Amino acid sequence: MTCPYCGGEMERGYIHKGGYIAWNPEERDLGLPEREKGGFYAEKNLLGMARLLSHYCPACNIFVCFPSRRRGDE
Ligand SMILES: [Zn+2]
Repeated sequence: MTCPYCGGEMERGYIHKGGYIAWNPEERDLGLPEREKGGFYAEKNLLGMARLLSHYCPACNIFVCFPSRRRGDE
């Protein structure tokens, strides 16, 4: 994948976390984001770990993450 900032090649990998990796457009302190309201959380595996496909650009020190396998997980 090409970095959207510098145009360099990004490194493919995963962000791992025990528990949930979540994104929420609403400011909430409790509970998981609601998908109907645009929220997202990565599914956990049997060990309780969440994994998010991402690409890292070492030059810009940024990650680009994909919330599902629909894009970027070839
Ligand atoms: Zn870059």
